Amino acid sequence: MALHQVRPRILGFISEDVSAWLVASLVLMAGLLLTGLLAWGTLNLFNQQLRQRFELQAEERYSRLQERFQDQEQRLDSLRRFFANSSGVSNSEFHGYTEALLRRTRAFAWAPRVFRDDRQPFEQQARAEVSGTYTIREQDEAGMLHPAIERDEYVPVLYVQSQPSYGSPLGLDLLSQPLRRVTLERARQRNALVVSQPVNLIGVDPAFSRGVVLAAPVSRHLAGEPFGYVVAAVSMRQLVADDLPAPGRDNLSMRVIDLSDGDHGEVLYETSDQPGKSDLAATRLLRLADRDFRVELRPSRLFLSSNHSSVTSLTVLGALLSLLLSALFYTLVSQRQRALALVEQRTRELRARESELRGTHGQLRGVLDAATQVAIIATDLRGVITTFNAGAEQMLGYRSCDVLQSMTLESLHVPRELQHRAAQLAARFGKPIPTCHAMLLEGGEQSGQQAREWTLVRRDGSHLTVNMLATPVLDEQGLWVGHLAICIDVTERKRVHEALAARDLLLKKLSAHVPGGIYQFKMDFNGGFSVIYASDGIRDIYELEPDVLVRHADAIFSRIHPSDSARVRASIRTSADTLSPWREEYRVQLPHRGLRWVRGEATPEQLPGGGVLWHGYISDISDLKRVEEELRALSVTDALTGIRNRRYFQERLTTEMTRVERGSGELTVVMLDIDHFKRINDQHGHAVGDRVLQAVCQRITQRLRRTDVFCRLGGEEFVVLCPDTDSESASTLALGLWDGLRSAPIDDVGIITASFGVAGWRAGEGADALLLRADAGVYAAKQAGRDRVEVQLA
Ligand code: GH3
Ligand code: MG
Ligand code: MG
Repeated sequence: MALHQVRPRILGFISEDVSAWLVASLVLMAGLLLTGLLAWGTLNLFNQQLRQRFELQAEERYSRLQERFQDQEQRLDSLRRFFANSSGVSNSEFHGYTEALLRRTRAFAWAPRVFRDDRQPFEQQARAEVSGTYTIREQDEAGMLHPAIERDEYVPVLYVQSQPSYGSPLGLDLLSQPLRRVTLERARQRNALVVSQPVNLIGVDPAFSRGVVLAAPVSRHLAGEPFGYVVAAVSMRQLVADDLPAPGRDNLSMRVIDLSDGDHGEVLYETSDQPGKSDLAATRLLRLADRDFRVELRPSRLFLSSNHSSVTSLTVLGALLSLLLSALFYTLVSQRQRALALVEQRTRELRARESELRGTHGQLRGVLDAATQVAIIATDLRGVITTFNAGAEQMLGYRSCDVLQSMTLESLHVPRELQHRAAQLAARFGKPIPTCHAMLLEGGEQSGQQAREWTLVRRDGSHLTVNMLATPVLDEQGLWVGHLAICIDVTERKRVHEALAARDLLLKKLSAHVPGGIYQFKMDFNGGFSVIYASDGIRDIYELEPDVLVRHADAIFSRIHPSDSARVRASIRTSADTLSPWREEYRVQLPHRGLRWVRGEATPEQLPGGGVLWHGYISDISDLKRVEEELRALSVTDALTGIRNRRYFQERLTTEMTRVERGSGELTVVMLDIDHFKRINDQHGHAVGDRVLQAVCQRITQRLRRTDVFCRLGGEEFVVLCPDTDSESASTLALGLWDGLRSAPIDDVGIITASFGVAGWRAGEGADALLLRADAGVYAAKQAGRDRVEVQLA
């Protein structure tokens, strides 16, 4: 089963093969996604809570303002009823009543209706009751109060109950101002409490001056004409901002807008706190008497900052956690993958080593079983046999089960041989050596592992010669735990070796009795020569030691005469090429015996590798050569005169003709015949005739040049072959010979003459034709009277 099939998955679901980066990226993405979802949810919840909180606060703010607006209406209405239900209200009563009402109201005032005719009495009464300087007044454009001009009706302020800062507008005719007059008119018409358009309150701190005037008509009866008005001056800022948190500490940013001028209206109050950046907002219309005011609320910066969201922190934290988780997964997966890869690599290595070991073990077993020609015997330290292979069984006749753990290596040896060897070793090492160690301490001091011949005893008692190599067996710590003996049966090898040695000796003896030497000569595929074998006889042939020749075959060629060396080499190559028997006679130049002739004969044999091997014989043929040369000389020499005979002449003539026919030089023949020789024989006898022939030859020989060839053609006919000689020179020579012969007598015979014919070779002429012409010259001389030279001109 493959390793990856049994692996558990990482955390139960991640495949092992997935890259650590991929896992880390997926975890990071999942983490970021979850963080995003969480942040989105949190943000939604936060926004919802923020809105609820805001709406709660806005609602509370609206309720509070609504209460204040209603409170203002109720207090003014109570003041109206106070006046309506009283027959007369004095200034002190007014003050007494309104003092308790003066809360978030700048001022309460009572303004009776005064008609033109009643102005004087009214002013007088008011001066008496309210103020000594009281007069009905009106406000100019600069805001200053002046006595009112004559009008049909006035509504002057009579009683005023105001807050301390409020400058008292006593006597101010409310009808003198358009806004206030319109308000009073509306109150009178509706017979109800009304609110003016925004006005600047008189005598008020400018910061609080913008406000409205509430006016309610006061009448005795329900539908009756009012006899005055109760008025309340309300600073919008004071009304809405009273008791609000200090600037910078309010959660709401508020605007109060009067809607008299359409949708835009006038901002009557605005908190100093700027709204924060938020889309939260609330708008509500609040009613004061007959007028609506729009109140706009938005969250202040304080509100937003005190209700800040934790989404950013959550996102950052989530991203960080995702990153950490991703890094954790990366480390986890990569470490696991590394560990698994390492495990897999180690497993592979182990398996490879295991299979290698199995292979080696199998090989070892195979070797042990297959080594049927080799006995492999292992012993423990005591020498008891622990391994006995098939070769050993075959060689020694024991079965391994009979030998193992029961026999020793020593028991397989011949005791006498062991004792002898032990004695030798004891002498070498200078201490006693037990026989059981004698076969182990072989090889001397250097290697300690050298094979040696031993005689082993088979089961049937017969002896066996083996070559045994004994080596110590060491364990992993290098400790000696036993011995290993490897034995090769060398009985047959020894027999063959002895037979070969005997044959070598025989060959040596035989060759010693053969003149000359026998040899094996080899030419390898690249043309190099070597001597494989040379018998002792070779020493006499080349005056070289046989072992020197075996090492340096070229030494042979240093002995061969330079004139014959090339020929010998060429014939060897021809023999190699044609595989024909080699036979060559050649000269050798020897240091001691000088120039000698030898003859070599050898039979070639093609070698499998491409070379040629010759088996041959070389003998000294100097004596034979000498005899041959003597015989040769005899065969071409005239026995009577000692000069060359006709055969020799024919050979030389053929040679010379070949030369001149090649175009090199000339050739002339001088032929002579002794005149009347028959008479000499007849007169003096044949023996004298023979002597005359010898004398004539001697004389002629004396006069010839070294290059001339003098031959006896037969009887008393002679010829002189003159190489490189033209007819003219030859004629001169012939005349000299003629003269030398006839100039002095021969003993007992007297003057002897001869007739000479001279013929020079003509181009294209054959030997026979040349001789015929020379003979024709002799004939012509005879015919002309003998004793002369006749030249056949070319
Ligand atoms: P010519 O002047 O015409 O040549 O006369 P000739 O006598 O020399 O003529 P011919 O050639 O007929 O005779 C040659 C003689 O030489 C014949 C022969 O008996 C003799 N003769 C040949 N060979 C020998 C020899 O070896 N020894 C002796 N003593 N005589 C020989
Ligand atoms: Mg003759
Ligand atoms: Mg003659």
